[in-house]
Amino acid sequence: MNFLLDDLINLPKVRIRNVIKESTETFLILDCLEEEVTCPHCENKTDKIHQTRTKIVRDLPISGQIIYLNIPKRQFHCEQCQKHFTEELEFVERGRRFTQRYEKYVYERVIASSVEQVRREEDLSWDQVNRIHQHQYEIKKKVGRR
Ligand SMILES: [Zn+2]
Repeated sequence: MNFLLDDLINLPKVRIRNVIKESTETFLILDCLEEEVTCPHCENKTDKIHQTRTKIVRDLPISGQIIYLNIPKRQFHCEQCQKHFTEELEFVERGRRFTQRYEKYVYERVIASSVEQVRREEDLSWDQVNRIHQHQYEIKKKVGRR
């Protein structure tokens, strides 16, 4: 356990188990803290883990270093309704390869400069930056309509 590092990354329901540094990239290996999660199908609480895979997502830089989070993607089995489901973490949208805060950060920076500049500075592809920008733009459009 490393309370200082956990405070630094400021993400809910996870803690840092290990840090692996590879040249310009740093991987934070995370553990999920919640033992019980709520089944999205029947709202029963369960702690029966069926399997755990790993998902790697890009997060905000720390001290100028590229940060990836190594997140356990836990699949649970609900004994009440007999369905399997994957735990959702609020800081990563399903199917995305970046944390929400990183996508917001990229979006704001594209507005302040350009896709080309952000691509270069963040070491992303033009397509990745453009897709993040579009995705965040769609989210903001939806929120604005409410
Ligand atoms: Zn259930």
